[in-house]
Amino acid sequence: MIDVYRPVTYNPDMAEIPSAEKVKHSAWFECVRGCGGKYSLKEIMYTCPNCGSLLQVAHDMDSLRSKTPDEWKQLFEERKHSNHWPYGSGVWGKRELVCPVVDDENVVSMYEGESNLFWADRLAKKVGLRDLWIKLCGNSHTGSFKDLGMTVLVSVVKQMISEGAQIKAVACASTGDTSAALASYCAAGDIPSIVFLPKGKVSMEQLIQPIANGALVISLNTDFDGCMNIVKEITKDKEIYLANSMNSLRIEGQKTVAIEMVQQFDWDVPDVVIIPGGNLGNVSALGRGFMMMEDLGLITKRPRIVVAQAESANPLYLAYKTGFKEFHSVTARKTLASAIQIGNPVSVWKAIDILNQFDGVVEQASEQELVDACALADNTGMYTCPHTGVAFAALLKLMKKGVIEKDHKTVVISTAHGLKFSGFKLQYHMNKLKGIESHYANTPVEIDANIDSVKKIIDGHIGGL
Ligand SMILES: *Cc1c(COP(=O)(O)O)cnc(C)c1O
Ligand SMILES: [Zn+2]
Repeated sequence: MIDVYRPVTYNPDMAEIPSAEKVKHSAWFECVRGCGGKYSLKEIMYTCPNCGSLLQVAHDMDSLRSKTPDEWKQLFEERKHSNHWPYGSGVWGKRELVCPVVDDENVVSMYEGESNLFWADRLAKKVGLRDLWIKLCGNSHTGSFKDLGMTVLVSVVKQMISEGAQIKAVACASTGDTSAALASYCAAGDIPSIVFLPKGKVSMEQLIQPIANGALVISLNTDFDGCMNIVKEITKDKEIYLANSMNSLRIEGQKTVAIEMVQQFDWDVPDVVIIPGGNLGNVSALGRGFMMMEDLGLITKRPRIVVAQAESANPLYLAYKTGFKEFHSVTARKTLASAIQIGNPVSVWKAIDILNQFDGVVEQASEQELVDACALADNTGMYTCPHTGVAFAALLKLMKKGVIEKDHKTVVISTAHGLKFSGFKLQYHMNKLKGIESHYANTPVEIDANIDSVKKIIDGHIGGL
C-alpha cells in the first residue's frame, strides 16, 4: 500500500464529510451508441468493442438520486475551497458525480478548478450586453481547463497501477495544453508520460511545460491530426495508456465546469454559454454537466450553447451550416488559435448530440476577428488567449446577427491563461503579425531618458495633465 500524508485542516463543520463516502455510487463505460455492454472504468479501452464508437462514462443515477437536490448543493458548498483532501479541488469536490472508483490516496490533484467567474462589465458595455461573465478556466494549475480532465484520468491510472495493472506510461497527442496537463499530473503521481506535439505548432510556454515536468517529448513533423494517428497506433500496446479526450474519463472531469459555474451563480443557469471548440471534447463535457444537474434536479433549465471555431479549422461550423446533416473533416490551416487547429475532431458526434439538445449554435472567427477581439477584451483588463478571442469574436458576430440579445445573461468560457500565448500579443502590438492589421495596437514608446521628451509624449498621449 502507498502511504501518503496529506495536510488536513480540522474544521468541525467538515466532520460530516467523510461519511458521505460511505454511500458508494457506481459508474462504468458504455458505448455512446447504446450497444449495451458495461465495462469497468479500470478497463484499458477507449472505443466500443462492438461498433468502434467512442465510449462514455455512465453513472448509477438512481443511486445518485438518493440525495435530494438540496443535499447535493449543501455538500458541494461545504467542500468548496476546503483543505480536506481531496475536496478543495473543483473536480474532486464533485467526486460522486465524476468518478467514484478512485481511493483518496490515489487521487492526483493540484486543486484544479474552482476558477473565478467574473462579471465583465466594461467589456459588456462595449459590446452592448447587460450581463457578461467570464469563466476563467486558465486560472488553474497548468494554465488551461485540461487540468479538470487530466486529474481524473491520471488518478484512475494510479488506482489501476495500485491494483496491479501493467501500465508503463501514459501518452497523448496535443496542441499544447493537454501535454502540459498530462506531464504535470503524471509527474505528481510518479507515472511516466509521453507527449506527441506537432513541430512548431505550439507556443514556447506550452512546449517548455512538459519538458520541465520530465515527460518524454516527441516533436513530430506533422499537424495535430497526424500526431493523433501516431498515438492511436502506439497505444494499441495496452501498457501505454491513452490520455486523449477520446478517453471519456477526461470528459467527466471537464464537465464540472458546468456544475461549478452554476454553483457560482447560486444555482442559476445563464442564457448562453460560449465555448471555443477544437477536438470538441470540452463542449461535450459542458453539455453533460448540465444534463447531469438536470437529471439530479439541481437545475430546471438549459442554456443555449455556442461553439466558436477558428475559420481556419472549422469542420463543425461547416457541418452546422448543413443543419448537421453532413460532417466532413477538413485539413486544418494555420491559426493563431493553435489549440483548436484541428480538422478531424474526435468527439464530433458527441458534440453534435449535445448541440442538438441545447439549441446549439456554431460561429467562426477569422484571424483578424480573433486578434481584434482579444485586444478589445484586453483593453478592459483581461489577458485573453487566442481561443478565448475566437469566443469573443463569435459573441460580437452573434450579437450583430441578433442571435444573442442584449438581455441574455452570457458566459464566455476562457479556456487557457493568456500568459501561455504572449508571443502573438507582442507581435500584434508591435504590428508584426503577417496579414493582420493591428487595429488596437498599443506600441511601447522608446525614447531617450530626457524629461522634456517624456513630457511631450505624455501630453500627446493622455492630453495636457
Ligand atoms: C484544448 C483546448 C481547446 C479546445 O477544446 P476541445 O475539447 O479540443 O474542443 C480550446 N482552448 C484551449 C486553450 C485548449 O487548450
Ligand atoms: Zn457500440
